[in-house]
Amino acid sequence: MKIALIAHDKKKADIIKLAVEYKDVLSKHDLIATGTTGTMIMGETGLKITRMKSGPLGGDQQIGSMLASGELDLIIFLRDPLTAQPHEPDVSALLRLCDVQSIPLATNCSSAIIMLNALRNNTF
Ligand code: PGA
Repeated sequence: MKIALIAHDKKKADIIKLAVEYKDVLSKHDLIATGTTGTMIMGETGLKITRMKSGPLGGDQQIGSMLASGELDLIIFLRDPLTAQPHEPDVSALLRLCDVQSIPLATNCSSAIIMLNALRNNTF
């Protein structure tokens, strides 16, 4: 599976914690991430991740383009709902494309844990 990982700044610690806890699961898949998220996860886990540009500089749109091409199977995008994002239109476009393509999308830790457990147990 090809899995995209994205986290807004205040959610970076959460996505790193998830990546550490589910490193065994994630290591079996192709991982894509926005620039800063990917760099931080790689630094903490050693996982191999293909990094796009940073989200505010177009990374969300790059991942959206992959989604539109049918290249992605699952997205974990830990959003910060309490902080205005300069690239909000890119974020909305990405979320919309997940629904257009019917791609599983976790926007918070609880949902991500359910999906990662399903992958771990081969029940996805
Ligand atoms: P970043 O981008 O991983 O480069 O911080 C995430 C985002 O804000 O979309």
